[in-house]
Amino acid sequence: VDNALVRAVHRIMTHADGKRRLAVRTNADTGADAARARRFGAEGIGLCRTEHMFLGDRRELVERLILARAADEREAALEALLPLQRADFVEIFREMDGLPVTVRLIDPPLHEFLPPLEQLAVNVAVAQERGEDVAKEEALLAAVRRMHEENPMLGLRGVRLGLVIPGLFAMQVRAIAEAAVAVVREGGTACPEIMVPLVGAVQELETVRAEAEKIIAEVVGDSGVEVLIGTMIEVPRAALTAGQIAEAAEFFSFGTNDLTQMGWGFSRDDVEGAFFWRYLELGIFGISPFESIDRDGVGRLVRIAAEEGRAARPGLKLGICGEHGGDPDSVHFFHEVGLDYVSCSPFRVPVARLEAGRAVVESGGSDSR
Ligand code: PEP
Ligand code: MG
Repeated sequence: VDNALVRAVHRIMTHADGKRRLAVRTNADTGADAARARRFGAEGIGLCRTEHMFLGDRRELVERLILARAADEREAALEALLPLQRADFVEIFREMDGLPVTVRLIDPPLHEFLPPLEQLAVNVAVAQERGEDVAKEEALLAAVRRMHEENPMLGLRGVRLGLVIPGLFAMQVRAIAEAAVAVVREGGTACPEIMVPLVGAVQELETVRAEAEKIIAEVVGDSGVEVLIGTMIEVPRAALTAGQIAEAAEFFSFGTNDLTQMGWGFSRDDVEGAFFWRYLELGIFGISPFESIDRDGVGRLVRIAAEEGRAARPGLKLGICGEHGGDPDSVHFFHEVGLDYVSCSPFRVPVARLEAGRAVVESGGSDSR
């Protein structure tokens, strides 16, 4: 690449950084992603999706945990997961070197971790035909059937999973706190922020917080590590009761993917091919609301939550970690609403920095952060 061009881009980025009021973080779940995002100028991690850490070899442990009927089976799975999670977080904290890291407690659609029902039914039939003892297969089939959901995206996800499966969130909170303490003991710094997904009622958050605080106090001791606890705002009810929720949250992060899904009642996974073309044709929107924030509807939920959250808790930290965090027009909107940061995928960090700077210039301000 032409050196003059590189210098020009650098000058523009430096100029934008001097102007912007929004901080720019990244969505990253691995040390490698975190490192890449830092090279692009990310100032923290705004969303570490921990469910991504449970795929591959660890999927089986999660399956065992979810389906466990006895406490000792569950505890064995949690005990196996704890050191793996601790190592995940140590890697990320080391990479981020004292920048804030928002770790979201596990938020999987359950069906991604359960064996498919059809497969289990086939296993039972095959074993039966062979004249084998099918008791174990049948028990597994029955357990998965009990957990089967027609609408997994509206089902046992996020905080609901944490409330239903004893020890799951506790294991993650312990891993986060222990990782932070380990990094501090080796001479580094760690600023963990624990984020609870899919909260719709303050009571859900209070329940998780009470358990988390006990674990954090026990692990952190006199290490000097501070752990914030906050929540995603991604269910419309959370936005509308933000004043209550702020009482139990040190920060909010808007999950505009789910907020758009539940605000419009559009399935994130299905709509694009099915009927969006007609909506575009009719001019109901000019661009998918999953790409660019719908200011009138979903955006209004964001505004309400920001205002009511801050009224209840002055200084409440506000961010956004949905896909919209890297969309130029949406970044301008989040600046207008007065959020503290946007978080986007590593490759979109430079665009977000640039647009956050432009948003200040376009709104007539010249204030720097
Ligand atoms: C969101 O809903 O906007 C979000 C960031 O969470 P996820 O995409 O993981 O559901
Ligand atoms: Mg979400």
